Amino acid sequence: MIQSDVRGATTGDVVAELRRRSSFAFVSHVKPDGDTLGAGLALGLALRAEGKRVAYFQQDPVPRNLRFLPDSDRVSRELPPDLPPDTLWVFCDMSDTSRAGEFLPDIDRDNVLDIDHHLANSRFGKYNYVLEKECSTGTCVLKLLDAMGATITPEIATCLLTTIMTDTGGYMHSNTTAEVLRTSARLVDLGADQERITEEIFANKRFAAIGLLGEALATARLEQGGRYCWSLVDDAMLARHGADGEDTEEIVQHLRSVEGVDVAALFKAYDGDVRGSLRSNGRVNVQSAAGRLGGGGHFRASGFTYEGTVDDAVVAVRDALISEGL
Ligand code: 5GP
Ligand code: MN
Repeated sequence: MIQSDVRGATTGDVVAELRRRSSFAFVSHVKPDGDTLGAGLALGLALRAEGKRVAYFQQDPVPRNLRFLPDSDRVSRELPPDLPPDTLWVFCDMSDTSRAGEFLPDIDRDNVLDIDHHLANSRFGKYNYVLEKECSTGTCVLKLLDAMGATITPEIATCLLTTIMTDTGGYMHSNTTAEVLRTSARLVDLGADQERITEEIFANKRFAAIGLLGEALATARLEQGGRYCWSLVDDAMLARHGADGEDTEEIVQHLRSVEGVDVAALFKAYDGDVRGSLRSNGRVNVQSAAGRLGGGGHFRASGFTYEGTVDDAVVAVRDALISEGL
């Protein structure tokens, strides 16, 4: 039996709970990515195949590049009005419930299953299936599906492979272990559409995104003796290129790819928020740095929302990174 951790639920506990319940509501995080969505859609597809009732809650719309995911058209901010009271709420890929946004109804903790792989997950559920060594929440779901003896259809395999390809950055991040590659091969054998995933997620940029990327790179700053590279996207920049928040996705990765850079940051000051994305080559813990600002994530990839001006955020992030050894 796989033990998630001392405070966590075992695979067996979670499978028993999935069997006991007949209605499920999946919750994905704001600014959804392929992991939060793919993990929930995969488990939802398997439960629906067993005749269970499944709903999906997500505050933000499904991003353009994830609309190919099977069942993603069922995801919405509106919940069915007749959800049974013993519905199990399954939160995928979030370290605390605030990541789900502001529109969730009050949920009894006894009805919450937390499936995640983030460091510092707050164990907010009655059942916390938190496997910090997994590369994605989707591979945590795969462990559950295998324990359930569920049939992995090509649709489910596509959702799960998407979670892996998203969270490993197309097999380029350090969480790409031999096990991850073996699991990926298994999913391709089961019918996952690897080519489609690559095309939709990594080769489907709008022209506006290219212009935005160009400006963000041209205005990037290099500090701390070349170890820290950061840039900023704001409302005016988005407007100049006819772009939106979805078009900012890969900018921070480009900043991180500069020779000698240990940490990259992209500040996102638009749509009324100041948010940030941090990426590290492994020398500096950006999960801890984001934690100092009320955010979180992983050792090498994290994010936060800053309460204040973008100028203050730039100073606060630099200070946080220096405190973490930048
Ligand atoms: P991204 O920069 O792609 O938005 O996020 C990178 C990682 O940090 C992801 O694992 C994401 O879930 C996490 N993350 C992003 N923003 C926040 C935040 O505000 N709070 C927490 N706890 N995690 C975040
Ligand atoms: Mn994830």
